[in-house]
Amino acid sequence: MLCPYCKGEVPDDAKKCMNCGEWIDPAYRKPQKEEQGFFSAVAETAISILFWVFILIIAVVAAYAFLDYNGLIS
Ligand SMILES: [Zn+2]
Repeated sequence: MLCPYCKGEVPDDAKKCMNCGEWIDPAYRKPQKEEQGFFSAVAETAISILFWVFILIIAVVAAYAFLDYNGLIS
């Protein structure tokens, strides 16, 4: 097959191009969009934190409403 980077001929099962040194197997290549990955990871964490905060607020409000309904809070 041909190397996608230098168009040189490499064995079909080659993981690395012997001509230009680029990794042909994507599993061995470094992630190119590292920044985007970082930001999406931060966004994912923020969303999960907001989700749990939301759940906590609902739980506190529900508990407060339950106690108030039963006259436990004067
Ligand atoms: Zn190459």
